[in-house]
Amino acid sequence: MFDTETLQTLLNLPDIAIDRVVLTERKTLKIYVHSTLEGTECHRCDKPIDHDYGLGQEINLRHLPLFDYTTVIVLRPKRYQCRHCSDRPTTSQTTVVVYASGVGHQGLRKFGVRSPIAHLPARA
Ligand SMILES: [Zn+2]
Repeated sequence: MFDTETLQTLLNLPDIAIDRVVLTERKTLKIYVHSTLEGTECHRCDKPIDHDYGLGQEINLRHLPLFDYTTVIVLRPKRYQCRHCSDRPTTSQTTVVVYASGVGHQGLRKFGVRSPIAHLPARA
C-alpha cells in the first residue's frame, strides 16, 4: 500500500525523493524526503555554491491526505557555504518543500506544481 514508487507519483513533487515512510499514531503518514538537486545560490552574492555544509532544521509540511491518512512531508534542507563571500555565509537550498513551507501553495507554481497539493506548514 505504501510503496515509495506509488507515493512518489502521488506526491508529484519535483526534485524530491522519498527516503522512508512512517505510519504514526492517529492515522498520520510521515514521508521523509530529500532533495535530489545539488547546490544552490549564495543568498548574499547570488553565485552558485556547492560546498556542503550539512543539513538545516527539519521542515514538516502538511500535504493533502493520501489514502485518508493525514500526510506530512519531512525534509531537512541541504545547506551550502559560500567561498566567494569573505565571511563564508551559508545558504539553505530552496526546494518545493522549503518554498511551500514559507509561502503556501500559491507560490508553488514557481516549481511547476499546478494543484495545491502541498499547503499549510504543519506544526513540527
Ligand atoms: Zn556569496
